[in-house]
This record gives sequence, structure tokens and C-alpha cells, in this order.
Amino acid sequence: MKLWALGVGDAFTARYHSTCGAVRAEGATLLVDCPHPIRKVMADARCGFDVGDLCGVVITHLHADHVSGLEGLLFFAHFVLQRRMPVLAHPEVLEAMWDGHLKAGMHQLLQADGSTRELSLQDVAEPVPLSEATATHHGPFTLECRRTIHHIPTFALRIAAAGRTLGWSADTAYDRGLIDWLARADRFVHETNLGVHTPYERLAALPEALRARMWLNHYTDDFDLDASVIEPLRQGHVYEV
Ligand SMILES: [Zn+2]
Repeated sequence: MKLWALGVGDAFTARYHSTCGAVRAEGATLLVDCPHPIRKVMADARCGFDVGDLCGVVITHLHADHVSGLEGLLFFAHFVLQRRMPVLAHPEVLEAMWDGHLKAGMHQLLQADGSTRELSLQDVAEPVPLSEATATHHGPFTLECRRTIHHIPTFALRIAAAGRTLGWSADTAYDRGLIDWLARADRFVHETNLGVHTPYERLAALPEALRARMWLNHYTDDFDLDASVIEPLRQGHVYEV
């Protein structure tokens, strides 16, 4: 299983793309979160795959830095690929995704005869609900989710395929229970940032054996990558999970 660090920055970054990744196993590629402009984000990583190669996108929560590219991705799939893109998320995220985020820009399409066609989420996406109780299978991937401590409903992930499992914290305050849940994966990515996010110092104080299986993302522009005692994901790099 491989992980592409497509974006590593936070909501206010002037240096990076916002945090997102792509997980590839057994010939399938799953996008994890979707900032705008997602095709440019993917192209900048020279990852060799594009929206048409995705088996789906999993969304952790509806803050714009994680989901602002979804309208473009779904319209690209609708108009260019002429298929519905699977969108995986916890039901609370899926429920708010249309009315609370996408509807304003996507609810109507102008037709050639001047009439308008009303769209719903199901017209442009294939919603795939995740569950906190059971694993969800999608292509070669098995996904589990766990609620994090954040402003709005947000869900960490464990993504398994090809005998390996990747943990992904999503946005969260420091939560030792969540870290233990993530650490049941072979490797895991943890966010770090200011305010309600997880302070780097709390993660740096964890046992070395735990830190050795952790990568960082969602860091501030002035985060010192070279001084970090936990390996930070570097934008555009690909990692073996
Ligand atoms: Zn957030």
C-alpha cells in the first residue's frame, strides 16, 4: 500500500496545498479529503493518476480546506467521465454534504433548450456511508472510522488493503484514545496545528515506538520539518505504508 502526500498544509496555508492524500493498493486509488483545485493538487504531486483513476473519495469532515474541491471533482466526473464518483463518509457528514455544502453550486444544470434540471447528491455522487460500528468494504479497501474532537462532526480513518493498514487522524484535538485506535494500524498520519488542533509537543512526548510509526500533516507554514522528532509527510512525496 502506498500513500501520496498530495497536500500537507492547514486551512490558512500560503505555502502548501491543504491536507489531503491518496492511498493506492491492488491497482485502486482512494482519495482522502478533497481541497480545491483537486486536479492541480494531484498534478503537482506528479503522482501519475488523475480523477478518472479514483475508485472514490473519502471525506473526513466538511471544513472547506478538506472538501472545497468536491464540487469540481464531482462535476468533472459528471461531465468528463460521465459517471458518479463514490463519496465515502460517516452518515453525519453525508447528511450535511448537499444542503450544507454542495447544493448552492450544484443544484441546477442549464439544459440546451434553456430549461433547468434539478440535481441531488445522488445524481452526481454515489454516497457510501461509513460506520463507527462496522467496517465498510470499497474495492480492495476496508474502511473504519472513529469520531474525533473537532468543531463539527469529523471522523478519523483506518484504511486497510493488501495486508496493510493506514491510520489517518483527520482534524482533532489531542486525544490519547484516538492515537491508540490509530496505532492499531501499521502506520498512521496525525495532524498537528494550533488552537483546537493537536500541539506538536504532545505528540513529540509520546513513546518513541509510537512516534516511529507516525507521520505528521496539517502543520503550519512555519513548522520546522527538519527539527521534528516525528517524520512529517512532505508534499508530493510517496510513502510505503
Ligand atoms: Zn477542520
